Amino acid sequence: MIKIISHLGLGTMGSGMASNLLKAGYQLTVWNRSVEKCEPFARKGARVADTPADAVRGAELVMYSLSNDQAVEEVVFGAKGILSGIKAGQIAMDMSTVLPATSLRELEAYAKRGVDFLDAPVFGSKKESADAKLWIMAAGKRGTFGRVKPVLEHLGQTVHYFGKNGNAAAMKLVGNLIVALEMEALAEGLVLAQKAGLDLKTVMEVVKVADFCSPLLVSNGQNILKRDFSPSFTLKLMFKDAGLIERFGNSLESPIPALRVAAKNLESAVALSFGKENASALIKALENEAGVEVKARGAG
Ligand code: NAP
Repeated sequence: MIKIISHLGLGTMGSGMASNLLKAGYQLTVWNRSVEKCEPFARKGARVADTPADAVRGAELVMYSLSNDQAVEEVVFGAKGILSGIKAGQIAMDMSTVLPATSLRELEAYAKRGVDFLDAPVFGSKKESADAKLWIMAAGKRGTFGRVKPVLEHLGQTVHYFGKNGNAAAMKLVGNLIVALEMEALAEGLVLAQKAGLDLKTVMEVVKVADFCSPLLVSNGQNILKRDFSPSFTLKLMFKDAGLIERFGNSLESPIPALRVAAKNLESAVALSFGKENASALIKALENEAGVEVKARGAG
């Protein structure tokens, strides 16, 4: 049974997961590029490592949640990266949203060192990460998955096994394609409702109960009406994911026309400097074009 874990990357998602590992009683080492984010974990008994290579020392499982492919490149493959410290028999697990091709590159590099690897990205955001309610997908050798599953069950409400490496990373992009289009649909719908002079609170009451409702539409719609764009999943990460989906779709010659439209609006919203706000700030690109602001009567 796995008892000793290293977790690298203490951003929005990683900090929630690392906290839950400590709560579950695992012996934890943490590493983060900005070292100050390690302090709360040190206070709770985690070892703080100086480098990714140092972080992996003694761990049965080395897991990481990093922004993007570039960050994985630096933390895994870079000087003093995970690969320069990890040893045969240890398990590595990437929980970031990256291209399936990146997962396969990681698999190959780890395999050369006798290290088993899982790609294990997640659905859910800041709250689900903090509350150990993520929806987790994992891919790699079944035996390795079996060893790691009890750890994942401390982080999420569901864990799905996807077979060979790269498949969980692919599923994450499939899901985020749907998320991006839901966000685009919500933004277009609310701007249209505002232009039509509808009462937006009543609009959201309908969105909450109608057959097209989804938790994502409801929570983001309600926050937009309050003009609350505090980040759970930043706009710039969603724009990054749109780029990954586009590359992945193109590589398989799978049509993604609507995603291209959403990606263009995400790009406009990032250009308007809303990248650090929540992904729902995508609506600001449409509001800019429409010359309206979507806000509930009496809000803000
Ligand atoms: P975040 O809050 O921006 O945190 C990103 C983490 O990556 C931080 O620890 C950051 O370090 C580190 N990082 C970035 N560039 C780096 C580099 N070049 N070298 C070393 N470390 C680097 O992101 P997040 O929201 O936690 O997301 C993490 C991953 O989960 C992403 O792949 C994202 O797409 C995915 N995801 C996010 C959500 C969500 O709702 N937020 C949901 C599902 C999946 P610093 O602290 O030093 O910046």
